[in-house]
Amino acid sequence: MALFKKKNYIRINPNRDQVPAAKPEVPDNLWAKCPNCKHMLYTKDIGLEKICPYCSYNFRISAWERIAITIDEKSFEEWDNNLFTKDPLSFPGYVEKVTKTQESTGLDEAVLTGKATIMGNSLALGIMDSHFIMGSMGTVVGEKITRLFEKATLEKLPVVIFTASGGARMQEGIMSLMQMAKISAAVKRHSDAGLFYLTVLTDPTTGGVTASFAMEGDIILAEPQSMIGFAGRRVIEQTIKQELPEDFQKAEFLLEHGFVDQIVPRTDIKERISQLLRLHDGRSWGVQ
Ligand SMILES: [Zn+2]
Repeated sequence: MALFKKKNYIRINPNRDQVPAAKPEVPDNLWAKCPNCKHMLYTKDIGLEKICPYCSYNFRISAWERIAITIDEKSFEEWDNNLFTKDPLSFPGYVEKVTKTQESTGLDEAVLTGKATIMGNSLALGIMDSHFIMGSMGTVVGEKITRLFEKATLEKLPVVIFTASGGARMQEGIMSLMQMAKISAAVKRHSDAGLFYLTVLTDPTTGGVTASFAMEGDIILAEPQSMIGFAGRRVIEQTIKQELPEDFQKAEFLLEHGFVDQIVPRTDIKERISQLLRLHDGRSWGVQ
């Protein structure tokens, strides 16, 4: 068992406990590194929309930040913010993890749902946040999105969802996988009522979310350079025993292969959504 024995590592810096005499002061948020092209950037250069000026990658932003830059001011009415996971598997440390994440993100779960207006157009809106346990889909996320579609169907509203997810929430096991079918059924009922559904895929959209409602939109938009896929790159390479192209699972690759309708940078998203909502307004076409 010598292999698993802890080694006595040599201290690399014997003075590491000493505080340097003149420590240079650099504010934490002055620089940001682009995860896509690896350029170091001044945070002021990426702006409020947080876009890399070198490669046009749209940085991951929180659900509240997205609300601030996307919808009409003070138009958001939140729905179902009183649902909490029951920890169905009694997974060790799960409840603590959820509580801690709720405090750090100001969200109750990995998706924010409600009603809002964008340039005067009413819609039911869902925004997923990858900062909340990687935007993973558990029972609460599934239930909130299902209710979003059900309320939208009742109120005859179009649905717009910004997706961001690492996939199913493993701490909820099979209960998490059930959500895909449940949401898809609600999407179908909304669609049967003649209502419009638009998805905006953001970095990263993977796993069960891609396998269900993310790809069920009537129109599918994506943010530049976003990672979008079902299984991870290594899993696919090992399964098919082939090497995959460099840009595989990038929004641009998906557009080229017909999985995405258009890539829209964050700066233009408000206008594009508003345009699509007006075009698909059932009332203009005589659909009830
Ligand atoms: Zn970049």
